[in-house]
Amino acid sequence: MGDVEHNLDRYLAAEQRLNTFFAALDYCFPRCIAVEKRKNGGQPVAACCQNKYYAICDLPHPAFERLRQEREKRFGRPEDHFWADPVSPCSYHNPHNGCLLATHKSPICLAFLCREGIDHLRNRYGIHMYDYLGFYYALEWILTGDLPERDYGEFMAGIAAMTARVKQMDGAPL
Ligand code: SF4
Ligand code: SF4
Repeated sequence: MGDVEHNLDRYLAAEQRLNTFFAALDYCFPRCIAVEKRKNGGQPVAACCQNKYYAICDLPHPAFERLRQEREKRFGRPEDHFWADPVSPCSYHNPHNGCLLATHKSPICLAFLCREGIDHLRNRYGIHMYDYLGFYYALEWILTGDLPERDYGEFMAGIAAMTARVKQMDGAPL
């Protein structure tokens, strides 16, 4: 297996772990999107998906190209999606269900958590390690192969620890 494939596998494993963390946290929909939608008279909102962030932030690097190929194989190209009532400039944003990329998101999209979300992690769970830019760069380096193995292990363990803390405090099964 080439380095690019190996790095992509590690990136997708990190994505899966982050998806589990965000699912346990369950912050964005009830605390933000549902609230904003109510304020908007029940009409869809874009929340933080206010641009084609993958197009702006992805690096000109073979690893990002591989991620994009695999994403488009599963979810189509951005131009394949047309919404009659778009609320975001990003074509992957379904106005009624949010981002349609269940996997293979770009690092910027995967890592982002707004100030309010980070404050919630700190105030409710005592979790201070979620630094969105730090996570963003770590994900970039996992993809490009620039994050050393030991740091990758720490990164993965950190996500698992945050997830366990959230589940424990919310009384969810670990
Ligand atoms: S990251 Fe923040 S702005 Fe974006 S959906 Fe979640 S709560 Fe809303
Ligand atoms: S790819 Fe998904 S998370 Fe990223 S900007 Fe588009 S809708 Fe939002």
